Amino acid sequence: MDQFQLDKGIVSQTVSQLRATFNSGKTKPIEWRKEQLKQLKKLIEENSSTLEQAIKEDLGKSEIESRMTETSFVKGEIAHTLKKLKNWMKSTKPVMPLMLQPAAGKLVYEPLGVVLIIAPWNYPVMLLLSPLVGALAAGNSVLLKPSEVSPTVSKVLAELIPQYLDHDAVKILEGGAEATGLILEERFDHIFYTGNEHVARIVSAAAAKHLTPVTLELGGKSPVWIGEGVNLKHTAERIAWGKFINAGQTCVAPDYIVTTPDIADQLGKYFSKSIKKLYGKNPENNVDYCRIINEKHTNRLKGMLDEINPEQILTGGEIKVSEKYIAPTVVDHVSLDSELMKSEIFGPILPIVRVNNFEEALDIILSKEKPLSLYAFTKNKEEKNRLLRDTSSGAIGFNIPVSHLSSPKLPFGGVGVSGHGNYHGKYSFITFSHLKPILSKPLWPDTMRFIYAPYGYMAKLVTKLFIGR
Ligand code: NAD
Repeated sequence: MDQFQLDKGIVSQTVSQLRATFNSGKTKPIEWRKEQLKQLKKLIEENSSTLEQAIKEDLGKSEIESRMTETSFVKGEIAHTLKKLKNWMKSTKPVMPLMLQPAAGKLVYEPLGVVLIIAPWNYPVMLLLSPLVGALAAGNSVLLKPSEVSPTVSKVLAELIPQYLDHDAVKILEGGAEATGLILEERFDHIFYTGNEHVARIVSAAAAKHLTPVTLELGGKSPVWIGEGVNLKHTAERIAWGKFINAGQTCVAPDYIVTTPDIADQLGKYFSKSIKKLYGKNPENNVDYCRIINEKHTNRLKGMLDEINPEQILTGGEIKVSEKYIAPTVVDHVSLDSELMKSEIFGPILPIVRVNNFEEALDIILSKEKPLSLYAFTKNKEEKNRLLRDTSSGAIGFNIPVSHLSSPKLPFGGVGVSGHGNYHGKYSFITFSHLKPILSKPLWPDTMRFIYAPYGYMAKLVTKLFIGR
């Protein structure tokens, strides 16, 4: 039993209450949805410094970075959703084919019911509340499960959510793997899980027992190709920013660079300068540089660096496990069978893999699972076209890492082992809704009788006219 003392009774009762609320119809009107979104905005506005302090406690992240990547991000999602919701909820009336006439077709978005949102620790506020925006906008009851790995944020949110949101329709349960296991025994109408691939399989297996659909927001190794002729100073600055923000604990952080030797030879000096510009000479003393979430993850990352020859380290390499500190680190000449290239790094270590040409880079990218993002810094149109045509990834960023997730107009999600389903903006609303087709046909004139058995001349004629044989 983990420290949160959840038992099956509490979990079942919580889900039953949420289902009763949903069945009562309370969550469906647009007024309720908007009111909840406004309350969520109020929660963030009135408690932004508490939330940012909690994130600092768990991740050592600066308040301004938390504001940018977590609290303000969610506020932006809410503002966009409040502005667009009425429009998104509108039904459409597609014209029905002649074969069905006279008839009226209609498409309506209906809420799914009781949905479960399971969040990880790396952006512990944003990754719990951003999906919540979509779930509320779509008119669902919601059970929230924050990550126990970021315990301060989990506790703060567990206190705040009931104070601001409709307690009958939005509930939050804290707990670790055991608690999540109990929660997953219940039947939900949708499960939205963000986290690692291993737990995603547990979530999927539990969901399959109830045939519950799932959205899986996972991770993976997001590659970066650097081609000939690009400005390496600016390239290194952008990659360093995308990699070392949140100390590399970002699902879409550049995971590794593949490039040719002449470019790799120059990257050391550019990365050293970019990192110095971002975090000064000693990032350990810089409040803007985040910590690793816990000692376990720090040791995991240390293990990846342990096998590296110190001469391969272009910049960084300092580790203080008890401080959960790993300096922004760039490693060159990394071989494909090293630990750094076997799994998602999810920390501030950036390997460079040297290849002879673009084709070899493509082979490496294709030899791995479909990544959450793929980045390319290149001026070469042919390379861009090949990446677009021959690779598959959750998203592609040309000359820009990470930032695609900040637009509510772009769906955010993975493909294959990096996840399935997506969200942000209207895509969140769609994820948490069912698009229901409605067909209405008058009983008279009774055109249906032409196709009823026994099949005679009219059935044959109708088939020929409308189906073509
Ligand atoms: P985590 O350890 O916090 O786990 C996520 C959730 O799974 C938690 O709520 C936890 O309680 C639950 N959980 C853990 N073990 C479980 C078990 N055995 N059974 C049931 N539930 C369990 O977070 P994490 O998985 O370490 O998160 C990091 C991973 O998430 C990385 O792979 C990263 O790329 C990915 N990620 C993806 C996105 C995205 O949007 N695609 C965003 C952030 C992180």
